[in-house]
This record gives sequence, C-alpha cells and structure tokens, in this order.
Amino acid sequence: MNWNPWHGCEKVSAGCANCFVFMLDRRYGRDTTVFSVNQALDLPIRRGRNGEYKLWASPYVFTCSNSDFFLPAADHVRGKAWEYIKERSDLNFLIPTKRVERIAGALPADWNMKDYGHVYLSCSCENQEMADARLPVYLGLELPHYTVQLEPLIGAVDLSKYLERNLIEKVTVEGEFGKGVRPCHEAWVRELYLQCRRYDTNMAFRRAGDILIDLDNAIYPKQPRGSQDYAGQLGYNYESTSRETVMW
Ligand code: SF4
Repeated sequence: MNWNPWHGCEKVSAGCANCFVFMLDRRYGRDTTVFSVNQALDLPIRRGRNGEYKLWASPYVFTCSNSDFFLPAADHVRGKAWEYIKERSDLNFLIPTKRVERIAGALPADWNMKDYGHVYLSCSCENQEMADARLPVYLGLELPHYTVQLEPLIGAVDLSKYLERNLIEKVTVEGEFGKGVRPCHEAWVRELYLQCRRYDTNMAFRRAGDILIDLDNAIYPKQPRGSQDYAGQLGYNYESTSRETVMW
C-alpha cells in the first residue's frame, strides 16, 4: 500500500532524469517542481466507522513515491508525518531517498531504535558515483534498518566495501522504464547478485526495465504490456541465510 503525504520534487542526480512523477505530471499539465501537501497526510491515523485504522499494509507502506521524504520543501510538514509514523508502529514504513545528507537533520527529536524500529529508510543510488557519494553518509547514520535501492540501475556498481560492513539487509535492483530509457545490463545485475551472495545479503532483481542487454550484448525482447516481467526468471534473487527476510 502507498502513502503519499505530499507531492512534488526537484531532480538531484542522473537517476532522476526520467522520473515517473515528472512523466505522469507532464501528461496532466502539472508542474512537479511545485510542492503541495496532500490530503492523505494523516492517512495513517485515519479510522473508519468501525474504529479501525484505514491504512493497512501487506507488509510495507511504500511512503512518498510521488516526492522525496527529505525534500527541503517538506521541512515544515515532515514533523506531522513522523508523528503518524510513530503512532503506527504496527506497520512497516519503507521510505526511499536520494537525499541521505538531509536525514540526520530531519529525524524527529525523539528518534530511537525502539519507537522507530518499523522505519526502513532506504538509500537510493543509480550508479557507482552516487553509491560512493551516498552510502558512506547513509551507513554512518544510526538507523534501525539499512537497505539499498539501485532503481533505476544505469551503470555497473561495486557494493563490496559497503556490504562487507554487514549492515545492509537488502539490495533491490530495477531497470528503467519510459521515454528516453537507459538500458540496464544483465552483467551489472549478475555482478551485484554475486556480491550479495558473497556477503550473504538479501537481493531482489525486481523489474528488468524496458531495455535489458543480455550477457551476449543482445537486447532481451520487450514483453507485451501486461505480461509478467522477466526479471524474476533470470534467477538473480538471493535470500540471505543469516538475515531476516525483507519482503518487498
Ligand atoms: S528524487 Fe525521486 S521523486 Fe524526486 S525527482 Fe528524483 S527520482 Fe523523482
């Protein structure tokens, strides 16, 4: 289930070039760079007539997919979102961000590993340059969980020196979709899979994207819209033998 407390964003790095939020907004004539707070801000604490919370999750609440939770424009309203997150400790909140350098200054004053143990702040990187810029900052924070999203993956990435610190619970990988798509290479995904196996870290190759180049440098055929994505068929998913399974 998704929770989008606000809308709008600014592009920060190469991974944002074909951002789907900008793409969808363009279709409806909306300016993505204009920030707005959504009515859904308090969705996590809304209750129905039966007194039950309206927001449930199976098993994660994907948070802020139409923005970035740590966007500067959201500084005045993020405190409310943290309040709601804290109240709903029965849910797991997955919050991906490219703005890891802003996390430390944007955590709630009572941040601790017990009351916020259900929060998965995930570091989003798209290539080696961004992994090397963001992961040292991210892994230096005190967080209950560490996960890395390489979505879209637009270059080869060596995560070895970060995985060997034994903090990262899961790495997820996706190719890119949409107009102007940059191809994803199976060789990059395979290399990440081998790194995750070597350091016994969960990995999921979730979606191949629109163009995947195979190990012989040929393009995998694009599957008809609606058919199951073939990422899962390639076998680059790894389940750690020593860590908890992270479900998304
Ligand atoms: S940070 Fe995320 S939401 Fe914002 S422009 Fe980049 S990809 Fe889009």
